[in-house]
Amino acid sequence: MATEVVGTLDSTIVEQGLEEAKGGPERLLRWADARFTGRIALASSFGAEDVVLIDLWCQVARLPRVFTLDTGRLPGETYDLMERIRARYDLEVDVFFPQAREAEGLVREHGPDLFYQGVELRRLCCHVRKVEPLTRALAGLSAWICGLRREQAPTRSRLQAVEVDDAHGGLLKLNPLADWTTEDVWAYIRSHQVPYNALHDQGYPSIGCAPCTRAVQPGQDIRSGRWWWENPETKECGLHVKEQHEHEPRTK
Ligand code: SF4
Repeated sequence: MATEVVGTLDSTIVEQGLEEAKGGPERLLRWADARFTGRIALASSFGAEDVVLIDLWCQVARLPRVFTLDTGRLPGETYDLMERIRARYDLEVDVFFPQAREAEGLVREHGPDLFYQGVELRRLCCHVRKVEPLTRALAGLSAWICGLRREQAPTRSRLQAVEVDDAHGGLLKLNPLADWTTEDVWAYIRSHQVPYNALHDQGYPSIGCAPCTRAVQPGQDIRSGRWWWENPETKECGLHVKEQHEHEPRTK
């Protein structure tokens, strides 16, 4: 299926989406499902925002496509959650792995924990295990859904609920929780009894690959447990390129 990019759609599509977003995430997702049925998917790393979106997406979408990037270095708790999500929603999750040849070459040449050796090798690992698989995951889609929120970081302060993702060929990128607070996310999880990652109860507000994520102290920046050995300005892996170009480098 050819990718229908925003540039070939009605130029008011972003404005339409933003108008729908005023009615809340559920209304935006319902509109997006009707507008892009079969050509839209939710990107999930099974963080707190992602499980909220999965819960909403499975309620409103006729074909609730969900994909995840299995880097091969995820914590066991994330796989446990994936199983619980699959069972709770009777959901098939599309899993994208790194290209075997690239991952094998990476480990052969630099070892399994190359990311601790410097920023360039860390970025190389992220490229092989995340960025390239994301490109394959988005192929054929017209729109994708992410759990980014403005409150997560200063770099996301201008995040819009509906954007054009120029970094991925002009797909429409939906951030339905853009204006939600952390409290909003957890209120939803608890009131709807949504399954969530057990690591959140162990001091992990943001969860990525196991060797690159650690718990933080109460009150610390929610992303300070990610790539903690690096300077803040190098903390990016390329999944959300637009915000990195417009602001300081950072990623999910
Ligand atoms: Fe590799 Fe760490 Fe990036 Fe995961 S977060 S892809 S383990 S460098």
